[in-house]
Amino acid sequence: MRYNYFHGEKLSVLGFGCMRLPVLDNDQSKIDMPQVEEMFMYAYENGVNYYDTAYPYHNGFSEVALGEILAKNNIRDKVNIATKLFTLEIGRPGFDPEKMLATQLERLKTDHIDYYLIHGLHGDQWDRLKNEYNIIDFLNEKRRKGIIRHMGFSFHDSYEAFQKIIDDYSWEFAQIQYNYLDNEIQAGDRGLRYAQRRGIPLNIMEPIKGGNLIFPDYPAIDEIRAKHGITESNAELALRYVFDKENLHVVLSGMSALDQVKENIAIADRCSVGGLTEDEKACIDDIRAFLESVPTIPCTGCRYCVAGCPMQIHIPVAFSCYNGAVKFGNKVAQMRSYNRDCSNLADCVECRQCAEACPQHLDIPELLKEVRAYFEG
Ligand code: SF4
Ligand code: SF4
Repeated sequence: MRYNYFHGEKLSVLGFGCMRLPVLDNDQSKIDMPQVEEMFMYAYENGVNYYDTAYPYHNGFSEVALGEILAKNNIRDKVNIATKLFTLEIGRPGFDPEKMLATQLERLKTDHIDYYLIHGLHGDQWDRLKNEYNIIDFLNEKRRKGIIRHMGFSFHDSYEAFQKIIDDYSWEFAQIQYNYLDNEIQAGDRGLRYAQRRGIPLNIMEPIKGGNLIFPDYPAIDEIRAKHGITESNAELALRYVFDKENLHVVLSGMSALDQVKENIAIADRCSVGGLTEDEKACIDDIRAFLESVPTIPCTGCRYCVAGCPMQIHIPVAFSCYNGAVKFGNKVAQMRSYNRDCSNLADCVECRQCAEACPQHLDIPELLKEVRAYFEG
């Protein structure tokens, strides 16, 4: 395993993302503990020392599983635990950072968190946390007491919000969504450069875009790869793109099976900063251009259509499943989300409230029929 150094500590360049652990009975709360233990221990024995979980992952059971397995194998002090303050609870009755952190310590069977992040932070949430919850005093106190060893935030907002948040507190690291398709959205390349100038290392999440850049059966992508003589897997190509960048702390991969753990560890060892070849760069440029040319439903996910729907149809989710399937050539993966969240498309009564609310002027009832035909036809 390769390592980066952070405040004199060795951190594996590959981090174990604990949000897509294998489960039993298709129930996110029922983690397959023997399988996960095998995966964590293989990762640990092969040098991975950074495990990233969060308060809501697997309905809280990701933290529980990580805590139990680290304690059982007596390796808590040999690895770094990263977990997160859940921001979607902000404003809800009972939201209490103090209580949340206490629950996390209990679930993780530890008295300190090595890397604590505010989860998926947006600019407005940061303002509310500061003004309504006095979060800076809370974080400073926990850091002083050693309960939080290093403080950061994970991020899903604009570059401008990223810049504002990063300048507003003594963060030690940040975590951004980044891959070769998402290098110009959210923090993106500009965020990478800005954090580097400020001396703040970054973690990367979604380096394979939640599995979308694997392209298991996609002849058009195969042709592009062949043109550039690319022989490694699509997953490796995507990981090589992020490992190529400077100022990275840890690249997180949400792993669901032992084979993925083995493959990612091997890839991490083969990659290096500045290691992307000219052929690989050209191939990635062509894949990006091709994917951008695939026609999709131009839904921005603004959700203006949702509140007025009398049948409570998850319109943007249905469009997102369809777009993901046609763009990334992976209908099977999107079918899972579609079946889970979009089982009531047939209930549409064509009242057109959604279409009137849509700033993109989409003919939503007709498009929903197309989506339904695609997945159910
Ligand atoms: S047209 Fe269909 S999807 Fe749109 S608001 Fe009416 S019932 Fe909901
Ligand atoms: S209002 Fe239109 S653009 Fe916004 S989420 Fe709904 S369908 Fe998408």
